[in-house]
Amino acid sequence: MDFSLTGEQREVRDWVRTFVRKEIMPLEPEVLRRERAGRPGLERAEIRELQLKAKESGFWGVLTPEEYGGMNLGAIMAALLEAELGRSFIQFRFGGAADNILFYANEEQRETYLKPTIAGEKISCFAITEPGAGSDARAIRAFAHQDGDDWVINGEKTFITGGNEADFTMVFAVTDKEKGANGGVTCFLADREMGWKSHPIDTMGEWGPAALTFDNVRVPSRNILGEVGRGFELAMRWIGQGRYLLPARAIGACERLVDMGIDYARTRTTFGQPIAERQAIQWMIADSAVEIEALRWLVLHAAWQVDQGMDSRQAQSMAKLYGGVKANEIVDRVLQIHGGMGYTRELPIERWYRELRLLRIYEGTDEIQRRTIARNLLKGHASISGVLG
Ligand SMILES: Cc1cc2nc3c(=O)[nH]c(=O)nc-3n(C[C@H](O)[C@H](O)[C@H](O)COP(=O)(O)OP(=O)(O)OC[C@H]3O[C@@H](n4cnc5c(N)ncnc54)[C@H](O)[C@@H]3O)c2cc1C
Repeated sequence: MDFSLTGEQREVRDWVRTFVRKEIMPLEPEVLRRERAGRPGLERAEIRELQLKAKESGFWGVLTPEEYGGMNLGAIMAALLEAELGRSFIQFRFGGAADNILFYANEEQRETYLKPTIAGEKISCFAITEPGAGSDARAIRAFAHQDGDDWVINGEKTFITGGNEADFTMVFAVTDKEKGANGGVTCFLADREMGWKSHPIDTMGEWGPAALTFDNVRVPSRNILGEVGRGFELAMRWIGQGRYLLPARAIGACERLVDMGIDYARTRTTFGQPIAERQAIQWMIADSAVEIEALRWLVLHAAWQVDQGMDSRQAQSMAKLYGGVKANEIVDRVLQIHGGMGYTRELPIERWYRELRLLRIYEGTDEIQRRTIARNLLKGHASISGVLG
């Protein structure tokens, strides 16, 4: 076993670390000010400017195939880069990316949706969740019926990330009620101009997802992504892809937070000694360091399986579950180390505290990850020996 990074991996990771430190972190105070005034942290044009700056050094489309101008760096590299980006709470992503399922587009759809999304000219959103169907995504009720060469969609979607900004949505609707999720769900590429409406949902974090309403929204047949009735498989592919990237981002956040905790513990004195001297504080730092290290290897192992073309679902669920739970414990400890200061808005800890909470909910809650992990073991699809099979 060789746990070391290659020279190239180290070089690419270090470049991103510097980029985050020089270009992104200096924006944090202004982003906090704006968010606290109820505005978006960064405007679309500002994100674009940062993306183009990164592009000058070749950072464009980390997972995008080279034929679309991307870097196609693979899952391990993507996880390493995500961890670096996670060191700032600013939700920056490199440009040149598109949702994995958009690559299932046909020739015409590639020109209209995939390429403009990669170029940053169009924004997409992924819409499966409904007021009555979250964890149980198979229970979706949005319905599309065929009318001539069009499909007419009716229904409601909720908690859709980017739903208020998106130019088009990949929306999932039942097209065959008898079959439901077993061959009766279809994915449609629906432009905002086709008539769906969105309104923002206020949350405890800065994500601001949206509710989408489809009231007789007419979508031409040529806008079906993939095949009629095969939408649920696409949805599972979309959800499955992020399960190692979300906890990867949490690694960076936790590293930065624990660094803040260490700095504070060294300088904050109580009863005549820095709190760093107290065992209670040392244990919080030690436990956090061990957990970050464990998370790193869970994430990298899941990413390695993705790169090997192996079935990585068990490893990804483990990384997602552990990342969500531990990131929340770690941010809570770091807040505790800072005492009252941790609770103020002078420091960004409370900002992370609110944001990291989401990790235990979206793209499969903790409970759903546990259900998956246990079921895989109970049914014999996975071994308790894990990586060593
Ligand atoms: C900020 C944000 C952004 C999101 N972005 C998107 C997006 O872009 N696109 C999209 O389609 N969706 C999105 N979602 C939706 C998200 O995926 C769902 O919220 C999530 O899957 C949970 O579904 P739910 O909220 O309906 O909770 P429920 O499914 O109603 O669950 C409620 C509680 O019951 C538990 N539970 C449910 N079933 C079981 C079970 N079988 N056993 C044990 N416990 C169970 C859950 O873990 C949870 O604790 C987003 C959500 C949020 C909050």
